[in-house]
Parts: sequence; structure tokens; C-alpha cells
Amino acid sequence: MIIRRFVIKSIFFSLVFLPILFLNQACARNTISGKVVSVTDGDTITVLDSSNTQHKIRIYGVDCPESHQGYGQKAKQFTSDLVFGKTVEIKIMDTDRYGRTVGIVNIDSKSLNAELIINGMAWFYGQYCKASFCSQWNQYQEEARSRKIGLWSMQNPIPPWEFRHGSSKTAPNPTTITQNAGAYHGNSKSMVFHSSKCKFYDCKNCTAVFPDRDMAIKTGFRPCGECKP
Ligand SMILES: [Zn+2]
Repeated sequence: MIIRRFVIKSIFFSLVFLPILFLNQACARNTISGKVVSVTDGDTITVLDSSNTQHKIRIYGVDCPESHQGYGQKAKQFTSDLVFGKTVEIKIMDTDRYGRTVGIVNIDSKSLNAELIINGMAWFYGQYCKASFCSQWNQYQEEARSRKIGLWSMQNPIPPWEFRHGSSKTAPNPTTITQNAGAYHGNSKSMVFHSSKCKFYDCKNCTAVFPDRDMAIKTGFRPCGECKP
């Protein structure tokens, strides 16, 4: 009888207290508060919390241009100006495949995430933004785009995820370039590209060379209206 009572008590204890313990831990892990000690690029920062632990944070729902893309450096500067050396609160949303914490960076009453989009310093990253407020962020992007703010002032802004994909996977190796070297020429001023049959093929500003049509379009060139490549 005593043993049975003990068992019942233990079960009762587990049912009541274990969830509380778990909840506590979950809450503690839900936010990080600390000082921004480094800015890797527009969408990646490092925060030092009060227990002297560093957290690398990927900013949720946005994707800044790569450092060697247009506005990559400006985005980094923007993030620096807003948060570097300051105390921020991170709302943790996810962990990415590199093990980085993905979160919303709040400073004063603003979020760095939204500010990046509003100021045309980042693309809205719809593929990874699934929270209820993401449609609002998409709206911010449309506003920035229509007002040609920041990266939207560029003629052919390339989404960084496509840029990364292009530079790592579809970039032709040197042999294929030589083999197809003459395929298409692009006018780097007008951003129009021509086939080898076109009279504009060797034009003065036709300094860009593409092995195929896809590459020309991906780089931001439009097909010529005359030779229709
Ligand atoms: Zn042409």
C-alpha cells in the first residue's frame, strides 16, 4: 500500500512538475538578449549575452545581397549603424542548416529585419518566412521596390539566393567557356545580348561573353529585338 502510494505520488510529481521544468527551459531559450559585438554582413550578426556566451544570429525572413553584389556592403553598413555595439533582444524563430540561430532582432521598438526590407537593404525571404507577419514584410518590399529605394534603384537586382546558386553551381568551367565562347555577346551598357549572327554582335560595348542564353539572362541581360537570340 505504501509502495503504491509512492508510485502514485511519483507519477503525480512527473505529470505536474516535469512540464513546468520543460516550459521554463523553452522560455529561457526563446529569446536572447545581449550586445552586438560583430556584424558579418547585412543579415548575420554576433551577440554576446550576459553570461559571456556568443551567439551567431542569422536574421529571420530576409536575405541581404552578397558582399560582392550591389548593395551588399551598404546592407552591412546599414546593419552596423543600427545595432553594432548596442543591446538587442533576439526572438528565436528557428535554427538553420548551419546551426545558426535564426531570429528577429529587436532594438528599441523596431525590428532590424523589417528595417532592412523597408530601406531596400534586403530581399524578403518568402521561402523561409512563414510567420503570420511575413505578408506585412512582403508588403514592405513591394513599397520599397515601387519607390526604388536602396537595392531597388538598381536596374536588374538579382536575388541573392539566385546569385549564390549561379556562382556556385551553374557557373561554367573555363573549358566550356572556350568551347562556346562565341555563342552570345552582351552590350554591357544597354544590357542587351546578341547571337553571333547579329550585326551588333561585335558592337563597341559588347564586352560580356556568354556560353548560353540562360547565363546571359541570369546575369541581367535582355535578348536583342533584332536577332532575337
Ligand atoms: Zn542582336
